[in-house]
Amino acid sequence: MSIKRVYTFGNKLAEGKADMKNLLGGKGANLAEMNLIGVPVPPGFTITTEVCTEYNKLGQEKAVKLIKEDVESAIKNTEEILGSKFGDKENPLLVSVRSGARVSMPGMMDTVLNLGLNDDAVEGIAKKSGNERFAWDSYRRFVQMYGDVVLGMKPESKEDIDPFEEIMDKVKEANNLEFDTDFTVDHLKELVTKFKAAVTKQTGKQFPDNPWDQLWGAVMAVFDSWNTDRAIYYRQMNKIPGEWGTAVNVQAMVYGNMGSNSGTGVAFTRDAGTGEDIFNGEYLIDAQGEDVVAGVRTPQEITLEGSKRWAKLQGVSEEERATKYPSLEEAMPKVYQELSTIEQKLEDHYNDMQDLEFTIQDGKLWLLQTRNGKRTGAAMVRMAIEMLDQGRIDEKEAVMRVEPNKLDELLHPVFDKDAMAEANVLTKGLPASPGAATGQLVFFADECEKYENSILARIETSPEDLEGMNIANGILTARGGMTSHAAVVARGMGKCCISGAGEIKIDYKARTLSINDETFEEGAWVSLNGSTGELYNGTIKTIDPELSGDFGRLMELADKYSRMYVRTNADTPHDSRVAREFGAKGIGLCRTEHMFFEGDKIVAMREMILAKDLKGREEALDRLLPIQQKDFEGIFEAMQDLPVTVRLLDPPLHEFVPHDEKGQQEMADVMGVDISVIKAKVESLHEFNPMLGHRGCRLGNTYPEITVMQTRAIIGAAIALKKRGINTHPEIMIPLTGTLAEMKMQEDIVRDTIKKVFAETGETIEHLVGTMIEIPRAALTADEIAKSAEFFSFGTNDLTQMTFGYSRDDTGVFMPVYLKKGILKNDPFEVLDQEGVGQLVKMAVEKGRQTRPNIKLGICGEHGGEPSSVEFCHRTGLDYVSCSPFRVPIARLAAAQATIREM
Ligand code: ADP
Ligand code: MG
Ligand code: MG
Repeated sequence: MSIKRVYTFGNKLAEGKADMKNLLGGKGANLAEMNLIGVPVPPGFTITTEVCTEYNKLGQEKAVKLIKEDVESAIKNTEEILGSKFGDKENPLLVSVRSGARVSMPGMMDTVLNLGLNDDAVEGIAKKSGNERFAWDSYRRFVQMYGDVVLGMKPESKEDIDPFEEIMDKVKEANNLEFDTDFTVDHLKELVTKFKAAVTKQTGKQFPDNPWDQLWGAVMAVFDSWNTDRAIYYRQMNKIPGEWGTAVNVQAMVYGNMGSNSGTGVAFTRDAGTGEDIFNGEYLIDAQGEDVVAGVRTPQEITLEGSKRWAKLQGVSEEERATKYPSLEEAMPKVYQELSTIEQKLEDHYNDMQDLEFTIQDGKLWLLQTRNGKRTGAAMVRMAIEMLDQGRIDEKEAVMRVEPNKLDELLHPVFDKDAMAEANVLTKGLPASPGAATGQLVFFADECEKYENSILARIETSPEDLEGMNIANGILTARGGMTSHAAVVARGMGKCCISGAGEIKIDYKARTLSINDETFEEGAWVSLNGSTGELYNGTIKTIDPELSGDFGRLMELADKYSRMYVRTNADTPHDSRVAREFGAKGIGLCRTEHMFFEGDKIVAMREMILAKDLKGREEALDRLLPIQQKDFEGIFEAMQDLPVTVRLLDPPLHEFVPHDEKGQQEMADVMGVDISVIKAKVESLHEFNPMLGHRGCRLGNTYPEITVMQTRAIIGAAIALKKRGINTHPEIMIPLTGTLAEMKMQEDIVRDTIKKVFAETGETIEHLVGTMIEIPRAALTADEIAKSAEFFSFGTNDLTQMTFGYSRDDTGVFMPVYLKKGILKNDPFEVLDQEGVGQLVKMAVEKGRQTRPNIKLGICGEHGGEPSSVEFCHRTGLDYVSCSPFRVPIARLAAAQATIREM
């Protein structure tokens, strides 16, 4: 049997179903499923994602050949259901051509509506609907959309004028018209003619009048849109593989623009911003397709309750609301009832929050899309816990429902309540995506990079703005509702957003934003509260968030299921405390070198490095010892009862010495030598490749007195705390081990010193001595190294650097190119390279356990907080991962998910 490439749906029948997303894309699979559960959906068919891949490989001609017959018979099936005919003069079938990948990529792929219209079909539509204006308006929209999406008429840059907009403006001007709705049938006819002429002028080709030509052109354009810059950028941002491809959905049109008894809208079964279990959404009367999300007209709320909330936020009086902006519940009570039954049915069916698109054609409701709705991190957590409490999902499912990286949003600072109360509110818009953001105003998405903290202010946003929206701290729009492009995308990104702040006027030319009489120039500081919709003048103080409520419960569940535990990388008591509050069960990496930079410590440190002999070094080290011990006391106290892994001095010494004249003179004065002596010493420390030079245990083995001092400080601190009744579990970690001998030599120094300290003080402290595994040779000979090391901690930053041979600090030039060209799928410094570096980790785990079955294993590289890497660590059998304090909850959740996936 040949491969099935086209799947039809319609009339409560469908060849596909919901779990075929990989093949049919999310949209196609759910259109099929909705048919199967009896939701009214216009008929049509889906061309599979595999055809997109075939198209990319074989080219257009061969790809069309593969599906031509199937598409023709699928159109026939649609025609039969509706009793209409593609391209017919009497009763023409019009379709939409829609993209749809496995996961939804909002605004990535362009949809063509009203396809099938030509000079004949438009007559048919006019006759059938008895509405000539509607027919010609649809035709006008179609030529425009098809020209933009398929024929490449859309202007490339923001300075260029859209040829269709220009024509419309001219016709308006010539006839003294203000709005699109003012066009008469004759104007619309004139527009169609002029649009087509513009197409011919710009592309040298006739606008295709044959519906089949139109259809094939649109299908290929959808396939092509998979590889636009925008789509590629979105995929990179969301780690979606380029080989998935998109499906194409061809679906009979329904018309929301047939007059006052028609409309179109978007709805959510729960609040995508806060997670509240409340049906909500927006609609527009006499509108089609993207009108609601494009923010062109002010959309109205679906429910009465939502409408009242909206009016209050917008300062709209009840009278004005009820007359000018009534809810769907009020305006079309019957349709509303049906919609609310369907939304409940869909949520019950999918057991997850649904994001719906619907259209009302002459009083009849049609569903055009459903999908698991995008949501903010906070909403994700709340919905998971509430659905658990409602008995819709079980504990494991609740844990799986939350994307670990999304928790990041809940860990960002929030506005301080007191500071907020005193702040100067400039205006209020809609609370489109919660959060707090402060930054400098910019008015163009591609200029968000100008400032370190930017707020993108736009009249409305469009898919081209995606990259800038991602860079900005927050987004502010003058137009558009809760389902506008800006709002939906911001919630997906977890970015703070205020939409529809109607009082603000943005002047793109002058680069100003004004509210009533006040004008703000580009670069002015403002603050947004995405949870209330309030815009403030200037900056507002922020405070750290708390891990409480639903978030706290989710974390408890995570710990209940995960096998690994999570530690943190922290060098200060403050960071240690933060991490503890986020649930860290110890420190996996405490870098001692950071401590030497503060205050006068650096002077003692420099003396040690610049000393001319052992005696000089020892004197300086004696001065450093009490300072270092104090540092450890602070950290051990913050982490009492929990293990703390302290890494001995690691970076090349030259990083500590002064390279500037002033610093060198200072050291010369302190040490009572001539500046030339200092200069010479600094020069002698120069290395061609410091990261591969005199660092790590190489330091401790050439200058054992450093290791002695650090060991004394660590154990000394533990003993000092013990005397105060505070329990500690120090673990001393030797960095950059490559051979057993260099590890052994360090181990001996450490153990010797500890013995001496115990003897001197008459106290003992439980402790471990182990090493980082970060040099490939150490991984390869881990069975040997484990003879000396009681624990391994994988330093995957260096391990990645040395396995790839990439200097981590020098990847800036080639890494973006490598990612763009697909040479690398991910930056291996962000996402652990399981295939290469991972093999070394695996090998070291196995070999280490061979020698020492109870060896303690963890990871302390940046990867310890990256979900896919955490999962790898779980599968590889590590005991714990360690990451920066703010990623601890993310790692806890990822660790739980890794365990549950294996169950
Ligand atoms: P996106 O993936 O960007 O949301 P869609 O394919 O869902 O794109 O379509 C864009 C808009 O066009 C949506 O508002 C949708 O409801 C509308 N639309 C798509 N197909 C039809 C159709 N057959 N009839 C009426 N409206 C449609
Ligand atoms: Mg779209
Ligand atoms: Mg859609």
